Amino acid sequence: MTQAAYPLIGSMAQATYTEMWGGKMVKERGYYDILGVEPTASPDEIKKAYRKLALKYHPDKNPNEGERFKLISQAYEVLSDEKKRDLYDKGGEQAIKEGGLGSGGFSSPMDIFDMFFGGGGRMNRERKGKNVVHQMSVSLEDLYNGATRKLALQKNVICEKCEGHGGKKGAVENCPTCKGRGIQVHVQQLGPGMVQQIQTMCSDCHGQGERINPKYRCRNCNGNKTVREKKIIEVHIDKGMKDGQKITFHGEGDQEPGLEPGDVIIVLDQKDHDTFQRRGDDLMTKMDIQLVEALCGFRRTLQTLDKRTLLITSKAGEVIKHGALKCVLNEGMPIYRDPFEKGRLVIQFFVIFPEDGWLPLHKLHHLEALLPQRDDIMVTEDMEYVELSKFDPEAERRHFAGEAYEEDERPRAGVQCHTS
Ligand SMILES: [Zn+2]
Ligand SMILES: [Zn+2]
Repeated sequence: MTQAAYPLIGSMAQATYTEMWGGKMVKERGYYDILGVEPTASPDEIKKAYRKLALKYHPDKNPNEGERFKLISQAYEVLSDEKKRDLYDKGGEQAIKEGGLGSGGFSSPMDIFDMFFGGGGRMNRERKGKNVVHQMSVSLEDLYNGATRKLALQKNVICEKCEGHGGKKGAVENCPTCKGRGIQVHVQQLGPGMVQQIQTMCSDCHGQGERINPKYRCRNCNGNKTVREKKIIEVHIDKGMKDGQKITFHGEGDQEPGLEPGDVIIVLDQKDHDTFQRRGDDLMTKMDIQLVEALCGFRRTLQTLDKRTLLITSKAGEVIKHGALKCVLNEGMPIYRDPFEKGRLVIQFFVIFPEDGWLPLHKLHHLEALLPQRDDIMVTEDMEYVELSKFDPEAERRHFAGEAYEEDERPRAGVQCHTS
């Protein structure tokens, strides 16, 4: 893996180096300004500038400069990477946002800080392994009643046999390939007076700079210091938990020697329910009722999420209008961490009207006699009599779309010819 190409600083190469960067044209210089360097700055100068600023504005020292620390990290993330720097020089910040860093955006400033400082020295105490995020599909019943689920995870744990050393005491030695530096250096002649030094991560030790002497290698972990293990964790879904809620298992992430393990984070993902929709602590449902029920009262049963049966009745004389909302108190979702309290069950009613001609015409006056009186209007001679036709908005839309299509196909005259 090529990490950076450095023009070699030597007496002969120096002149070429300056020439190469001297006349550099860049689209923007915002990131250079944040780090306080010139667009012609060498990777080393950028590194030094970042180190100084990152330590100065680290949230530990400067809690109010979090935004600044973030900007410094972003600028460094771009300028320290040859490809990203090139992209930025040509297309500015826009180019970086669009293509350079993908949809995930920038890395966390802490990650860049950790990467840069490599966990060496006193900054080490904050080093932590990666968090692992899992999504868990749950039903609305699970969130209502609470549930316990077992989840099998594969994770790296410190080898018990060698206690994470990878071998017996004294088995660790400098990597013979890179002599403990973790990098391999290749020098390439680019042209007269100019050489390029390419550093790559040592492939034998993966940049660690050390290896376990094969003779003393731990057989249990094969010198890897950790072994893969299956671990079952119990996920307790508490009553009233919500879609998207996180359940954190601290320190259950992969183990690595010298690193505090990250967390396993379970994110609840609620499946849609056939009967109920959740809205905060309320449950919403729809209920179809007949016209007779809307006018003369009704009794309906409804099964709750814990399988009880509610008998829902309207009060005598109560008229339920189409689309009306009513609620049952304390039959919604349990309140998280206070599960004896519940939200509301909100019911929206849809009134089913009878079909045309359901009542013989000669009986209509019986019904009318019972219904609230109609407002009669005065008919005058200047009024125009019209009839109501059926109207289906969907059919209308299809019809108009078809006509527009036809018009595109051939001239209007042709259509007229056809219809006349
Ligand atoms: Zn090596
Ligand atoms: Zn071992």
